[in-house]
Amino acid sequence: MLWQKTLCEMLGLKGRIIISKHGINGTVGGSLTACKMYTRRTREFAPFKNMEFKWSQGSADDFPRLSVKARDEIVAFGAPDEIKVDEQGIIGGGVHLKPEELHKLVEERGDELVFFDGRNAMEAEIGKFKDAIVPDVTTTHDFIAELESGKYDHLKDKPVVTYCTGGIRCEVLTPLMKNRGFQEVYQLDGGIVRYGERFGDSGLWEGSLYVFDRRMHMEFSDEAKQLGQCVHCETPTNDFVNCHNEACRKQTLMCASCAADEKKAYCERCVGTAANQ
Ligand SMILES: [Zn+2]
Ligand SMILES: [Zn+2]
Repeated sequence: MLWQKTLCEMLGLKGRIIISKHGINGTVGGSLTACKMYTRRTREFAPFKNMEFKWSQGSADDFPRLSVKARDEIVAFGAPDEIKVDEQGIIGGGVHLKPEELHKLVEERGDELVFFDGRNAMEAEIGKFKDAIVPDVTTTHDFIAELESGKYDHLKDKPVVTYCTGGIRCEVLTPLMKNRGFQEVYQLDGGIVRYGERFGDSGLWEGSLYVFDRRMHMEFSDEAKQLGQCVHCETPTNDFVNCHNEACRKQTLMCASCAADEKKAYCERCVGTAANQ
């Protein structure tokens, strides 16, 4: 943790890095030279020699600060002891599919195949794979109860493809699913980011990609479908606004005019309540 923190500080990088006994995951922003230096230095640590990095347009200003933390889990599913890793990575996870391999599997298995969104339900409001199942989860912590609820038992003998932003959440989600009886689990290698780089908006992805920095969302092309709509007036929008109730702050899809309206700039639950009288 100290090594990574010092390295980022030295290079003027901002962002968020989580380190656990299972590995490391994070996003940093800064000048191209600084980011390149970061990848080079990080790979010098032998276990990280083959680490994958994904690149996207942005800067240090997309992040409010630098945060480097050591945690029990890289992704907070609430199951630190269920996850086991060896030199090859996670043990007992899903079969990795490259974007082309995903298309091949869809061709072979047709309607039998199910897409299962591995993100928070909110993220899928603005973009998801066509006909994907979106579990009712507010945070990753809700996933285990959702998987054990019985709602998805009919998928347990079907080919299920999980996906998430960059492929990391699925690394943890897929063994949790397999341990709970899902027989044929796949995961999209490199996540939506890599799929979008390869197929843009001409494949099976629809809409915008929610991202965890100031950009909030990104599109793969000008052809991106607009899936989101304002919770108040149904105007198409991909912009999340924090509910103006300080005690809530829920990210809520809102059009520019509702977001600018003092009476309306609240989530569905808070709008019209005592909080804004
Ligand atoms: Zn509106
Ligand atoms: Zn609210």
